[in-house]
Amino acid sequence: MGRSVAVVGSGPGGMYAVQRVLDECGDCRIDVIERLPSPFGLIRGGVAPDHQTTKNVSRAFEKTLRDPRVRYLGNVAMGHDVSLAELEIIYDAVILAYGAPWDRKLGIPGEDKKNVFGSNAFVGWYNCHPDFKDLDPDLDVAGVAVVGVGNVAVDCARVLAKTPKEMATTDLATYAAARIHAAPIKDIWMFGRRGPAEAAFTNVELRELGKLEDCATLVDQAHLPAAIDSVGMDDKDFRVRSKNLETMRGFTGADAGSKKKRMHIAFFASPVAVLGGERVEGIRMEKTRIEKGRAIGTGETFDVPCGLVITCIGSRAEAIESVPFDEKAGIVRHEQGRVRPGLYAVGWVKRGATGTIGTNRLDSYDVVDLMLKEMAAPDKPGAAALDRLLAARKVRVVGLADWQKIQKLEEANAPKGAPRRKFITPAEMLAALDKASAA
Ligand code: NAP
Repeated sequence: MGRSVAVVGSGPGGMYAVQRVLDECGDCRIDVIERLPSPFGLIRGGVAPDHQTTKNVSRAFEKTLRDPRVRYLGNVAMGHDVSLAELEIIYDAVILAYGAPWDRKLGIPGEDKKNVFGSNAFVGWYNCHPDFKDLDPDLDVAGVAVVGVGNVAVDCARVLAKTPKEMATTDLATYAAARIHAAPIKDIWMFGRRGPAEAAFTNVELRELGKLEDCATLVDQAHLPAAIDSVGMDDKDFRVRSKNLETMRGFTGADAGSKKKRMHIAFFASPVAVLGGERVEGIRMEKTRIEKGRAIGTGETFDVPCGLVITCIGSRAEAIESVPFDEKAGIVRHEQGRVRPGLYAVGWVKRGATGTIGTNRLDSYDVVDLMLKEMAAPDKPGAAALDRLLAARKVRVVGLADWQKIQKLEEANAPKGAPRRKFITPAEMLAALDKASAA
């Protein structure tokens, strides 16, 4: 009998963990348990629709799922269809990889007004994530405030700024495209509470903002330092930030007169209140100065009119049954990835929402190496026990072959030039699967 491992969540953290188990443990059998019928987490629901090449990593993940030692069990929700306690009884080891999909809050007055959204919700909406399909943002607005200057902020701002032509080869949700492209948006503000030298976006992403067809990107040139101070920075960080500075020197707004939209990247500005009645009418910002790397409010405020606010200030994981949780960091408590004997965590539920897709690889490898070192001889029932339990509960499991059929249908439904037209809800996917099987 081989050792049995359950990986809960099929995003990058989970999939790199599966790869490592396959590489390092010949006798291991792995069940990948995923809440949605569709696999790969943020690759499908988070990565921007106009960043299709980034999504190519899902081909490698799919290859991993094709390994005969791996089973994909989509449409199975831990906490609903099976509990963590049951998984810990069934498998020799369980790896939590369920991500950090909850938006952090600003904690300022007015944040609960209509048309204020966190980035997970907003990105999920335009990316066809079933949890956010009913978000219903009102885009009949002239101004948008995006809070934060990380890559997610750049994604949100860019998707709102691009023309239908620029989005034609993407898998942007059809309902989102209709609303975004009819919107009278003129000004998109991206606010950084610290300065250009501290901005979290990376250079490739920033440079894209200088190449938009009908949107001019502007930075107040007086905010740009003469050079980046390298103190306390590693070489890579210094290089990225120096390149960012160079890129932003080009964002002078010289093309603003000829373009319909303007994107203003505004630094040293921290939100203090969302303004308006029931719905957003503006955002009040406080000017800041930097002390020891921190943004300190100066007491001087200014108001920016806008009808939509998107907060892109990071995200947190969710606490689940019996798992120790660090509320402040928004991650599970662990030691080098070990939550308790037999239970491990990888990806954003372990580290928090940081890093690129590739960051997960070595991180997951380290946790799996620790797990394999600590794993005893097999003495749990594994896959067959889960199958019995799910069958008794009448859970409809979406296997890899089912997912591949759904994927083919999405590709076949794609408008010309687009990679796919995504199904949105699990029910739609299952109905399409049934129809295809009956045909
Ligand atoms: P992030 O990189 O941590 O950026 C968060 C931004 O929010 C920062 O500018 C931060 O400012 C700001 N912020 C946090 N709390 C704030 C507050 N209370 N008030 C005002 N501003 C606040 O997070 P992210 O953009 O969500 O991205 C998460 C990870 O995914 C990152 O590692 C990112 O690179 C990665 N990602 C990569 C790509 C890509 O490679 N194309 C795309 C999307 C995401 P401070 O710095 O001052 O805290």
